[in-house]
Amino acid sequence: MAHRHHIDPDELTALADHRRQILSAVAPLPPVSASLLEARSLVLAQDVAAPGDIPPFANSAMDGFAVRAAEVGEGSRLRVVGEIAAGSPDLPSPGAGEAVRIMTGAPMPAGATAVVPVELVTESDGEVVLDTSPEVGDNIRASGESARRGEVVLTAGRPLGPAEIGMLAAMGIPRVEVHPRVRVATLATGDELVEPGTPLMPGQIHESNSYALAAQVAEVGAVAFRQQIARDDRAALRKAFTDALATADVLVTSGGVSAGRYDLSKQVLAELGDVTFAKVAMQPGMPQAFGSIDGVPVFGLPGNPVSAAVSFEVLVRPAIRRMQGRTDLNRPRVTARLAEDVRSPEHKVSFLRVTLERGDDDWLATTTGAQGSGILRSMVLADGLAEIPADRTSMAAGEPVVVHLLVDPT
Ligand code: AMP
Ligand code: MG
Repeated sequence: MAHRHHIDPDELTALADHRRQILSAVAPLPPVSASLLEARSLVLAQDVAAPGDIPPFANSAMDGFAVRAAEVGEGSRLRVVGEIAAGSPDLPSPGAGEAVRIMTGAPMPAGATAVVPVELVTESDGEVVLDTSPEVGDNIRASGESARRGEVVLTAGRPLGPAEIGMLAAMGIPRVEVHPRVRVATLATGDELVEPGTPLMPGQIHESNSYALAAQVAEVGAVAFRQQIARDDRAALRKAFTDALATADVLVTSGGVSAGRYDLSKQVLAELGDVTFAKVAMQPGMPQAFGSIDGVPVFGLPGNPVSAAVSFEVLVRPAIRRMQGRTDLNRPRVTARLAEDVRSPEHKVSFLRVTLERGDDDWLATTTGAQGSGILRSMVLADGLAEIPADRTSMAAGEPVVVHLLVDPT
């Protein structure tokens, strides 16, 4: 039985075990200081307390008139004795029978206890008549109502979205400690590969993995460095890997980890550092190399374009997120019903590329056509990856499956 293609289940590493090994081998990168614009989408590595009250002073929530609320009511006729604009340092105070014109965001003057909106007064000849009876505090934003001085507003571990970035700016904080973006080198190997833009000679194909992987790296908020194509030659691979490792926090290679005669990547990676090879119980993406070279995590992904892309999703993306300080490592997922019968290989978790459609009260998952691991089109059309458990070799239309979302559901 020299050409048996049956997989011996004892040779397989369970996907969950392989993932666990990867995730225990990577840790958040040491914090760096970042400006607010650089910090967007990164994870905070410090607690942040408000350095002062936010807002720092009581101010008007409306354009209107600052009045002494306890002394006035509907029908009161008040003399307008001054004006306060936002940013004005001059704060004329209303005395008995007086009002001060005030704009949104302007500091409240001493003595005023409410703002009557401009829409609720009748103005004439330097006087206003109130159309309402204001209560103390009406239309005033208290100092510290958003955050009190010393209050911890953001804690370490928090991803900095637009609201957090805005809050930091509002507190007057220009820089924060964050876990930096991971620098990821993506590197394709293979003698058959040529650059897009170069005409193909017989037997050649255009290289796509390093580009797709670089885009996946960028999508996870990390920084991609696409490397030149490396030839299937020990010296070339050694030089390419060593060069890439010089500047990268993570190296992701594609190709050369299967059982072919020219699959040299896994050998060269193993020579350079502590990189081991595994047959992971998943499809696509069974052959995997993982380890570290000089402390840099290294992923040797299989070369088939769908295998590389799915491997990145399932194995590399969570590791990059952990290195960037995230604790939520996975894609959002939904449970969907299969729209058709599907088959899945024995002993392996399979990830089917599916589109999602909203059914009456759930999601419906339909495969994106032929699922071969070289058929990149199946990935182009996909909204998500449907996970078929390792112990199933088929699933019937209508059965529920977990779908890992690649796009925002609509
Ligand atoms: P390998 O893992 O090197 O045996 O490659 C498996 C398959 O993927 C072969 O058909 C390769 O031609 C193809 N392949 C490998 N690397 C790439 C790449 N970077 N871009 C496109 N196809 C590739
Ligand atoms: Mg190859």
